[in-house]
Amino acid sequence: MNAEQKRRGNILYVDDEQGNLLAFVANFRKDYENIYTVTSAKEGIEIIRNHPIDVVLTDQQMPEMTGVQFLQAIPPEFSNILRLIVTGFSDIDAVIDAINTGKVFRFIKKPWDKNELKHYIDQALNIRELEISNRKLIEKLKKEAKENERLVNIYKKHVSDDIIKKELASTEKLLDVPDKTKSVNDEKKYHFFIIDDDDRTIELYARLLKEKGHQISSSNSAKDGLKKIFEVQPDCVLCDLTMPDLDGVDLLNCIRLKSDIKQPKFIIITGKIFDFDKRRAFQSGVDGYITKPIHSETFVKEILDILDTHMVVGFFGVRGTLPVPGPKTLRYGGNTNCVTIRIANKHFLIFDAGTGIKGLSDSLLSENNFPMKAKIFITHPHYDHINGIPFFVPLYMKGNHFDIYGTRHGELSIEALLNNQMENVYFPVTMKEFIAGKSFHDLTEETIKLDDLRIQTIFLNHPGRCIGYRIDYQKKSFCYVTDNELYLENSPHFLQHDVDRLIDFIQDADLLLIDTTYSDEEYLKKVGWGHSCVSRVVDVADKANVKLLGLYHHDLYQYDDDIDQKLKFAQTLLEKRNSKTKCIAPAEGSSIIL
Ligand SMILES: [Zn+2]
Ligand SMILES: [Zn+2]
Repeated sequence: MNAEQKRRGNILYVDDEQGNLLAFVANFRKDYENIYTVTSAKEGIEIIRNHPIDVVLTDQQMPEMTGVQFLQAIPPEFSNILRLIVTGFSDIDAVIDAINTGKVFRFIKKPWDKNELKHYIDQALNIRELEISNRKLIEKLKKEAKENERLVNIYKKHVSDDIIKKELASTEKLLDVPDKTKSVNDEKKYHFFIIDDDDRTIELYARLLKEKGHQISSSNSAKDGLKKIFEVQPDCVLCDLTMPDLDGVDLLNCIRLKSDIKQPKFIIITGKIFDFDKRRAFQSGVDGYITKPIHSETFVKEILDILDTHMVVGFFGVRGTLPVPGPKTLRYGGNTNCVTIRIANKHFLIFDAGTGIKGLSDSLLSENNFPMKAKIFITHPHYDHINGIPFFVPLYMKGNHFDIYGTRHGELSIEALLNNQMENVYFPVTMKEFIAGKSFHDLTEETIKLDDLRIQTIFLNHPGRCIGYRIDYQKKSFCYVTDNELYLENSPHFLQHDVDRLIDFIQDADLLLIDTTYSDEEYLKKVGWGHSCVSRVVDVADKANVKLLGLYHHDLYQYDDDIDQKLKFAQTLLEKRNSKTKCIAPAEGSSIIL
C-alpha cells in the first residue's frame, strides 16, 4: 500500500508498555497518515501542544496517571480531539464516569481486537472530518445570512410594513414544524425487566432507568428471569444476548410461546457487533438491538426511542405536476411532492424529491443533527417527483448516508434515472458531487424487510412505470400511492381486479396519501392522464377501511379554495356512506402523528 492510500489523520497513542505501542504501529502504520506513540501522559500533552492531533488513544492503567486523568489533563483549547480509552474490565466504573462527563468517545476492552479498534478510530476520524466541514458550512451560512440581512434592509425601505408583516406571518406558518428530535412518549413511565449475568451491568442500567422514574425488576440468570417475567409481566425486557444458561433470542422465543401473559417489548443489549447476530435477533422479533458500550447520557433515550412506535409524518410538498407558488396557494403550499416519516430516532424515510425537498433540506440544516441516515423512496421519475434532488444539501455532506429506492425504466436503473436529470446540459452539478454515502436499490413489485420495517410496493396506473409504497412498522401503517389513475366504474378501462389489488394493498392503513389530482368534474376532461378524482379515491379508501385518507398531488390549476372544495366533497361522500374513514388535505409545513 502506498502513502496515498493511507487515511488522513493524526493519531496519538499513550501506553506505558512499549510492546503495546510497537504492536499498534505495526498494525496501523499502513492505514493512517501519522501515528505518534509515547509512554507517558506528560509526553502525550507535549505532542498535543505541538501537532494537530485528531484522535487520542490511551491505556487506562499507567503508573503516573490513569488514562482518564490524562484525558482530563488535556488543555481545554484541544477539546475537539476525540478520545478513546483502552481498559480492562476492572476499571469499567471509572471509565463509564468519564463517558458521563462527556470526555471519552469510546472505550475499548483489553486486549484490543484490530478490526474493532480500526472501526472506532475510523468513526472518530469521520466525526472530526464532519466537524471541520460543518464549521466551513456554518461560516458560509453566516456570510449568506449577512447578505440576506442586507437585502431585507433594502426591501424594508421600499415595501410597506403591512405587507412585510403579512409575509412574515405566512413564512412562520410554513416553518412551524414540530420538534421531531423529542420522543412522543418521553414522559411515559415503564416497568423494565433486566436480565444480564453481570450484576454490575444490571446495577448500571437500573440506576439510569430509575433516575428517570421507571420501575425495575431484574435477574442475573436467564432461566430464573423467565419465571419472574411470567409473574411480574413487565412492559419491556432488556436482555443480554449471550448468557451461560439460555441465549437471549431463545429466551424471547420462550416468552412469545406463552400466550396468556401481556407480551412485553424485548430489547437485546450486547457487545456483539456482527450483522449476523443482529439479523438473527430481528428475525426472531426483537423490538430493538443496542450495541455496547452503552452511553450513560443517551442510554435511556435510546430505549425510549425503541418503545416509541409513533410515526411522525411531515409534509414538505403536496402539489403535483408543477410548483405553483403565489398568494393563492399559501395555505396548502406550492411545492411539489415530498413527504417524510420519522419513527423516533430509529428511522427516517423520505417519499419523493419534488421541490418540497428544499424545505426539508433547510429544516435538516437548522436541526444540525449530522451525520444522518435516511431512506429515499421515489415513485417515478416525472419532474415533479425528482427535480428537488440537486437542492438537497445533506447529499453534499460527507458522513451522511442515503439508501435510494425506485423502479427501473427498461434499461435505466433508478441511479441512471436520477443521474440523467443532472446531465451537464440540464444542470451544472453532477451526481458525482454528492459526497454523502449512497446506495441505490431497484425495486419491482415486492415485499422487503429492513430491520423492523416492512416495505411493500405495487405498480400503479400511470404513464411509464410508477410504484406505490406501503410501510408497516409495529402495528402502524402508511401508504403512499401517487401518481395513479382510478377509472370510473362505467369506463371501458375499468378492471375490478386492479381495484381489488389496490384495496388489498392499502387495507386498514393508518394513513393513505393518494393521488387526488382532480375534482370529479375536472376528471371527465382528463381521462387517461394518469390521475384520479375525489369520488374514486373515497370509494377505495372506504372499502379498504383506511383510517385516515389524505388527499394529495393537487392539480396545478387548483388554488387553496379549490382544495377546500375537494376536501369538503370527500368528507360529505364519506359521511353519506357512514364510513369510519376520516379525510384530510394535508398542507405543506404541517405534520401529523400516527
Ligand atoms: Zn406527479
Ligand atoms: Zn407522474
